[in-house]
Amino acid sequence: MSQAFTTLIPNDKIRSRISELAASISADYAGSTEDNPVLLLCTLRGAAFFAADLVRALTVPCELDFIKVHSYFDDVNPSGIPVFELGREINVTGRDVLIIEDIVDTGQTMDLVKRHYTEHGAKSVRIAALLNKPSRRLPGLKDMVDPDYSGFEIPDLFVVGWGLDFNEKYRLLPDVMVYDPDAV
Ligand code: 5GP
Repeated sequence: MSQAFTTLIPNDKIRSRISELAASISADYAGSTEDNPVLLLCTLRGAAFFAADLVRALTVPCELDFIKVHSYFDDVNPSGIPVFELGREINVTGRDVLIIEDIVDTGQTMDLVKRHYTEHGAKSVRIAALLNKPSRRLPGLKDMVDPDYSGFEIPDLFVVGWGLDFNEKYRLLPDVMVYDPDAV
């Protein structure tokens, strides 16, 4: 009998890595002020857990808002090309924007989001991703969407837990786990 779930990154490692990321981000945005705080844009739903921990560990003034991108093949989106569902209209003019993402896979989602806010007047747009699968990146997107702050680089495996789901299940798992839906 094979296992459906295998722990890839345990809870304690995730927590300590998020503290490290928060320290780097706080240092890099040390110039942000109450009048012009960093604008954190959390991608729903997967990044909600990562964002909650990261944001609470930051020591610089920041604002939190939420965005959502539809990025999978279905009847609503037969091309599979990512489209904004929420957050397209957020005013980013002159703002330092930090997108908080669960995982950068092919890079299409972060390409859309980063280009959109850059074109709409953000002063800077960076990416903080809990997980990064560089081996899956579409050719041509590599540098564009590489996370500025990356928790863990992982191989080409499907993972769940710490906010990441499979058909809305397994988000609450306390570790990042490799999931094999075919295992019995
Ligand atoms: P990208 O546009 O970079 O290909 O994909 C981004 C989205 O695909 C992520 O935000 C996430 O929702 C989903 N995704 C990619 N890889 C995984 C994975 O291993 N597990 C889960 N649960 N979602 C993933």
